[in-house]
Parts: sequence; C-alpha cells; structure tokens
Amino acid sequence: MDAEKLRELDRRHLWHPYTAAAAAVAAHPVTRAEGVRLTLADGRELIDGMSSWWSAIHGYGHPRLDAAVRDQLGDMAHVMFGGLTHEPAVRLARRLAEMTGLPKVFLADSGSVAVEVAIKMAVQATGKSRLLTVKGGYHGDTFGAMSVCDPVNGMHHLFGGVLPAHVFADRPPADYGLRPGAPSASASRRRPAGPEISGGSSEPAIPGVSAEPAIPDEAYLRHLDVMVAQHAGELAAIIVEPVVQGAGGMRFYHPAYLRRLRELADEHGILLIADEIATAFGRTGEMFGCDHAGVRPDIMCVGKALTGGYLTMAAALCTEEVAERIGVLMHGPTFMANPLAAAVADASLTLLGERPWQEEVKRIEAALAEGLAPAAGAPGVRDVRVLGAIGVVETAEPVDVEKMQNVVMAHGVWLRPFGSLLYTMPPYCTGPGDLAAITGAMTAAVATLSP
Ligand SMILES: *Cc1c(COP(=O)(O)O)cnc(C)c1O
Repeated sequence: MDAEKLRELDRRHLWHPYTAAAAAVAAHPVTRAEGVRLTLADGRELIDGMSSWWSAIHGYGHPRLDAAVRDQLGDMAHVMFGGLTHEPAVRLARRLAEMTGLPKVFLADSGSVAVEVAIKMAVQATGKSRLLTVKGGYHGDTFGAMSVCDPVNGMHHLFGGVLPAHVFADRPPADYGLRPGAPSASASRRRPAGPEISGGSSEPAIPGVSAEPAIPDEAYLRHLDVMVAQHAGELAAIIVEPVVQGAGGMRFYHPAYLRRLRELADEHGILLIADEIATAFGRTGEMFGCDHAGVRPDIMCVGKALTGGYLTMAAALCTEEVAERIGVLMHGPTFMANPLAAAVADASLTLLGERPWQEEVKRIEAALAEGLAPAAGAPGVRDVRVLGAIGVVETAEPVDVEKMQNVVMAHGVWLRPFGSLLYTMPPYCTGPGDLAAITGAMTAAVATLSP
C-alpha cells in the first residue's frame, strides 16, 4: 500500500493514543526502524528521540534481540501459563528477582496491568483498600491505574464517578536533576544517593550547568508526614513513580522525598509500591529510580524498556513477606508470561548488563544538558531540565503539537510533544551527532514560540 492509502485507511478505521476516531491530523506511516532511525513511507529518515515511549533502549532491529525472538519462535510462540511453565519465563523471573531483590514475580502484559496487579497485591496483603499517592503522577490508563493518576491532568474529570477516591499529597517540588542555563543559585546537580557523598564534587563540569547539590524542601517533607499520619489507618499502600514523574509532567524530584515515604510506610505499617515502568533499566542514570534514594519498595512495577521495545510485557514484583500475606493472588491474563516477550526481555537485560549503560547515559545527560542550554531563558520557555537520558523543555503555554512536530521533523528528528512539554528520551546507543540533531531540533522548535 502506498503512503497516502495507508494514511487514508488508518484515519477511517484506527484509534491512536488519546485521539478522536477521526483524528484531525493523519499519522505518519513508518516502513522500517533500524538503529536509532525510523524510515517513513515517503522515504524520510528520522532520528527517534522517543525510544518509542521509553522502551527501545537498545535501538531498533538489534541483532541479538531479533535472534532471541526468532529462536524462541522456533520452539513456541505461546502457551497458557495456568499449570504450565517454560524456560523464558523462569529465566526472566530469576533475573528480575536478582536485579531488584524482590523474589516474587508476576508477569503481566502491559504496564497498566502491572499497576492493577500491584494494587491488588497491596489490597489483598493488607485487607485495606485506599492508596496514597502524590499529585502529578501517571500510572496508566486502566481504571485502577487511572485512579492514582493526577486528579487534574489525569482523566478523573471524565471517569470521576467510576474511580475509587484515593488520597493525594501535593506534587513534590521539581528540585532534582540538571538545570542547564539556570543561574547557579537555583541550579541543581544530580547526586547519587547516600549522605557520605553529599558534599563531594568530582563530577565533570558540563558547560552552562552549575554543580550545586539539591536540597530537599523541609516543608514538603513535613507535608508528607502529616498526610500519611492522617490516613495511615485506612491505607493499603503508598504508590509513586520514583524520582521521575513521567507522563504526568516530566518532573524530577529529590530522592529525600522517596526516602521519607519509605520511612513513613515502615513507621505506619503501610506498603510502598514503586512504579518503575518508565524509570527502570538505567534511564535516570541509576538502574532503578529507587536507587537514587537507596530504598527498596515492597512492590515494584516494571514495563516499557523491559523487552527493549520489542513486545508488550511488564511485571509486578514483591517481597517474600508480601507474597505470604497475599496467599492466592487473584489475577491471570490469557497471555501471561508470553514466551516470545519473556525471551526478548531476558535477552534485552543480558545486553543491558553487557553494555556500559552508565557511561552511555552519563554521556547522553551531558549532551542533552549542553544542547538544551540555549533553550533555557528563550521566550515562551518556563524550564529546561535533564536527568539521565531524559531531556525536557517545558513551555509557558501548551504547545501546538502538530506545528512543533513539523519543525522537529524538518530537522530529521522524531519527537511527540504533549501539553507544555517538548521532551526526549533517546535510545542509549544514540551517538553524539544524533544527540546534537535532537537538541538542535528542540531548540529550533522552541525558537518558533511567540514571546
Ligand atoms: C507508561 C506507564 C504506565 C503504563 O504502562 P502501559 O504499558 O502504557 O500500560 C504506568 N506507569 C508509568 C510510570 C508509566 O510511565
């Protein structure tokens, strides 16, 4: 089918994420994805700055991941998981347990489902039904997950009547990560967790970025104390995205808030659920978002990058103790532990273990901070921030998505802005030239904002 035919039939029949059935603007047909590049049906090549929504960390068409799927296909594509098991699932579960310290693994078929399972785990383990979270969060699109998304920029206004009412603490201050272009007084430099290194300053300087350590907001810590104490009796769990609030606003918060939530959970006998679906597997500069704070949750969700962007799979993991308290966990999707997805996930995590991802992410962080510095202080820009392999330009007003996208595409780059956010989380294998193209496209897009 030619590109025009594809676009026309797509518009006639397909829903896309968060769009009307007959979308105002047609989607761009992709014919190939290789390395960090997407090829469109009209022949254009675009550098993918989105990693297909956080997932394609190794880039597209990686020979090892292709082989993992092909080899597994030779044995079997799928069998039910009720009463049966297989090596890909066993290998993956053992690896995830070793990586997280959480030995009980439920393999779900998407991030949202993993969040549903995590909530069920907490409810079944405690016999309580309310959750505490923070505003500005995003945990998925199914009903349980939606109920803990930000009540204003989430979908509560559409589904309020159907959603359980949970407890929302204020949004954590966005006071972590690099602030390219900011004056040194307000600039903050990411610090690894642990008090022993809080005074050190041996990290390489990045042009335009000062190295002040972030200081947690005492008033916010006290707010968390009060909120948890007030509701402790009815809470099954606290659920948050560790350190990075993703689709709820692309904000980075100080690990001290996560540490305090861990302490409060322990103090009041509440479980802590870490939704690591966006943050896991190195994206933030640590293997897991929780590693910034040096905490271990009772329940963790992973997804997105789990399969290297190949197939849909996520997991909800928990401690031995939580598993014992749960007993029979009441969930069991048809395609649970799909062998193709499990095999490619295991291969992707093997590959991650072999590649110098820490250096790669650090290199991307420095390149994003340097490349996005010119956008800071530009008319219409509210904030520029970078953490690990995540770069964000927040505008003062919501952007015209199509207009922004056209500018970015004219620069040979694929990004998908939303709301007031133009952001990138490129594959870890993105080279210096391609990173410069991405930040160049972003600063060019920002330059089209009217003051
Ligand atoms: C994307 C995301 C989800 C939902 O995952 P899906 O696979 O899209 O269902 C949940 N939580 C977080 C933090 C996410 O980033």
